[in-house]
Amino acid sequence: MFKVQLVGIGMVLLVAATVSAAAPAANPANPLLAKWSGPYGGVPPFDAVRVEHFKPALEAAMAEQLAEIDAITANPAKPDFDNTIAAMERAGRTLNRVGSIFGVFSSTMSTPDFQAVESEMAPKLAEFGDKVAQNEKLFARVAAVYETRETSGLSPEQQRLVWLDYTGFVRSGARLDKPAKERLSAINQRLASLFTSFSQNLLADESDYELVLEKEADLAGLPESLRQAAASAAESRGHKGKWSILNTRSSMDPFLTYSDRRDLREKVWRTYYNRGDNGGAHDNNKIITEILKLRAERAKLLGYTTHAHWRLENSMAKTPERAMELMEAVWKPAVARVHEEVADMQALADKEGAKITIEPWDYRYYAEKVRKAKYDLDQNAVMPYLQLEKLREGMFWVAGELFGFRFTPVQDAPVVQPDIRVWKVTDPAGQLVGLWYFDPYARPDKGSGAWMNAYRNQERFDGAISTIVSNNTNFVKGKPGEPILISWDDATALFHEFGHALHGLASSVQYPSLSGTSVPNDYGEFPSQLLEHWLPTPEVLNRYALHYQTGKPIPKELVDRIERAATFNQGFLTVEYLAGALVDMKLHLAATPDKDIDPDAFERQALAELGMPKEVVMRHRTPQFGHIFASDGYSAGYYSYLWSDTLSADAWEAFQQAGGAYDKAVAQRLRDHVFSVGNTVDPADGYRAFRGKDPGTAALMRKRGFPVVETAQPASTKP
Ligand SMILES: [Zn+2]
Repeated sequence: MFKVQLVGIGMVLLVAATVSAAAPAANPANPLLAKWSGPYGGVPPFDAVRVEHFKPALEAAMAEQLAEIDAITANPAKPDFDNTIAAMERAGRTLNRVGSIFGVFSSTMSTPDFQAVESEMAPKLAEFGDKVAQNEKLFARVAAVYETRETSGLSPEQQRLVWLDYTGFVRSGARLDKPAKERLSAINQRLASLFTSFSQNLLADESDYELVLEKEADLAGLPESLRQAAASAAESRGHKGKWSILNTRSSMDPFLTYSDRRDLREKVWRTYYNRGDNGGAHDNNKIITEILKLRAERAKLLGYTTHAHWRLENSMAKTPERAMELMEAVWKPAVARVHEEVADMQALADKEGAKITIEPWDYRYYAEKVRKAKYDLDQNAVMPYLQLEKLREGMFWVAGELFGFRFTPVQDAPVVQPDIRVWKVTDPAGQLVGLWYFDPYARPDKGSGAWMNAYRNQERFDGAISTIVSNNTNFVKGKPGEPILISWDDATALFHEFGHALHGLASSVQYPSLSGTSVPNDYGEFPSQLLEHWLPTPEVLNRYALHYQTGKPIPKELVDRIERAATFNQGFLTVEYLAGALVDMKLHLAATPDKDIDPDAFERQALAELGMPKEVVMRHRTPQFGHIFASDGYSAGYYSYLWSDTLSADAWEAFQQAGGAYDKAVAQRLRDHVFSVGNTVDPADGYRAFRGKDPGTAALMRKRGFPVVETAQPASTKP
């Protein structure tokens, strides 16, 4: 996933940044308000920021941007691209800088004192966003530029920016009357508060619960690396000499895969999948009910049937119906595959005399046993070859092969926490491309999962500005000097997030709001999912999948077994994901302004109607579905991963059909038409230019090992 800082509605808000000539009304003592100084075109002052800086900085930065907008609307000259659209790109530089650091704290340094500031500022930022989006004079100028966009000599990129700004205003309510605008603004502010509470509740349930294992016998089945990680986790939480299983995906997943203790597996499973659903102060159910009502009301106000219709209008899929069509096409074969997988697991459990019926907390455990039996592939035999730092070097090497990027570690960029490291990225001529920050380890105040974000977008229209991107993961930090061994799935996730980072780094556009990953969600996961394909290439594995003790590369026959097992467990993986994507879309299609939806009941009923296999649970159950309730981000948009994967599967076949994974000509086309163009071209057009054809679903079905049925060609998003 990738996070967009401080998302408002409308394209005009909070685009990325350098500094305008207008000096900020800055308190020089507040480091957040200063222009970023230092090397690489300036770096975020993470070393100087304290929590108490955020509120005054955000307030000053919002005031500054409003003044900049007043200057645009007060311009007596006839509205044109430069004095209106480009001027908007120049406005809000300070707020972008403050906002990007605010976002880093929110996702990785969310201490109680920060959370208090966040709760206070979230509705104020939403109100500010509405003030900009509902500015009538500004909209009138944008509309005037929009009317003449085809006849005023604008470049295609400029025309697209005008179109996005104009439709962004309309979609944010610029055409509404005053009472409707006021109501819209109240809704957005309330939603912002609810999103913040939702994430804070989830974080509380992740950090407040842990399973402390007292005796060695409780560790039965766990490989040495997991025992060590659990011991470090326990030690850092004050249980020295014991073992802690944290309530996060990176702790839960391997525990359920390896623990022989069925009773403890069930315990860990229940605790994890009840996050946000435990009753009491951190329960998210009421929050969800209110979010759904407010989103439905907002959609109606803006003239859309549902929140889903509003959200998808500017996506590549365009309509909820097209997204549903793709999901439903994949759902049936995926469920059929789950039944086969469960039958295999049940047979194995019976053979072992386990006397059990497969339950959700058994799935990973027996799947792993089947994997071993069927493919002679033991995840545990793979992990010693998957050293975090070596894989990172492998990603760098891939970026060099595909895009010519070189990564060099630097010490002169401050970080928010000492475990974070920074690399400068250069092109073959030695020119700076950008910076890459890597924050690898789990911390109590850091959100779980993995993500990328951009601290500064690349742009060129007022002089070249290079991007700053980061990757964030939640690996358990090992003992000093010891390599961190990760699972194949985590290695894949690492490459995925690096794909987002490369999408940012390869950006080569004029305007910051069209830069890098600023594309529709259902296209934004395409570059990242595509990059996952380079991990299993022999070129990467032979050089970087090295045994942590012997230094020897992963044996060829083990790689062959990994390849043979590539479609293994795709039933489970597809169904746990798709169930979430379908429930997300159904929730947002069903919600109305006056209906109280009970999330638990809705989830149960929707899954029953879908014929959800009882052995699988949604990857993110509704009360913990941060993608859709911690912001508008992926709401009615979780399908994006599947949509993007139809593209990535098809794009990977382009390499296969040419000279293979490192084919220079295909890589060049990929860079020219996908990675470098940001949102300057329609995604469907960009894809076609890269591939020479539209994508179908055949490659996706092949990738997942499902029977091939050709359906749902992603549509064009032309206005
Ligand atoms: Zn992603």
